[in-house]
Amino acid sequence: MDISVTDPLPRQYVVMGGTFDPVHNGHLKSAQQLAQTLGYSAVHLMPCGDAYHKQGVSQAIHRVAMLKLAVADEPLLTVDERETKRQGATYTVDTLAQLREELGQDTHISWILGTDAALGLSDWHNWQQVFKLANIILIHRAGEHLPKGVTDKWAANEYLDPLSFKQQSHGGFIQLGLEPFQESSTAIRQALETEQSVDHHVPQAVLNYIEQHGLYRGNH
Ligand code: ATP
Repeated sequence: MDISVTDPLPRQYVVMGGTFDPVHNGHLKSAQQLAQTLGYSAVHLMPCGDAYHKQGVSQAIHRVAMLKLAVADEPLLTVDERETKRQGATYTVDTLAQLREELGQDTHISWILGTDAALGLSDWHNWQQVFKLANIILIHRAGEHLPKGVTDKWAANEYLDPLSFKQQSHGGFIQLGLEPFQESSTAIRQALETEQSVDHHVPQAVLNYIEQHGLYRGNH
């Protein structure tokens, strides 16, 4: 799809990467709110393939299936499965390089990071390449704050104005205080393991899938 020369902004591709084991309402609501607040037409939820940094992650086939069910009625959200189709460990820089090649030099590419993930950014494989390929949107979970100085190490410019930020193809970051959503996949998995209700934290279609496949009960 070519962009018209009269369009005021370059094309945009915004990614929320994660394990999504399982996807929960915190992911969905924060991605939606982010799209609305910054005026993006879509946020692409991208489950990682081989999560080299986490042990015992559910098979990608289940995580992708749950994500697809979760976004079925969400107009602003889509699933990008590309990382689950690659062999070997999933490195974000490889994904960003692939996106950059596909979308061209002018496209605004942004990767969403929660506070926890932002703290670990400098441990990522080839992390210095991230800002040569993309921007970062920092979102903060309930009660979490990024300690002072963390972003000073980033070779990136901070933007306060979303319009200017969205003009950048790469090399920038913006911080977004979203309404806090308490859910975490860890808490959801623990609740399911101990037979507690997660009804208001996970979409019903995802819960049905979890039941049908006996996930998170210690038998998958
Ligand atoms: P886990 O508990 O297994 O570590 P998680 O709930 O943090 O999982 P991930 O799939 O690792 O989920 O997260 C994907 C992205 O979504 C990360 O950037 C993470 O910071 C963000 N995120 C997760 N939960 C929330 C939430 N409740 N509100 C806002 N962002 C969230």
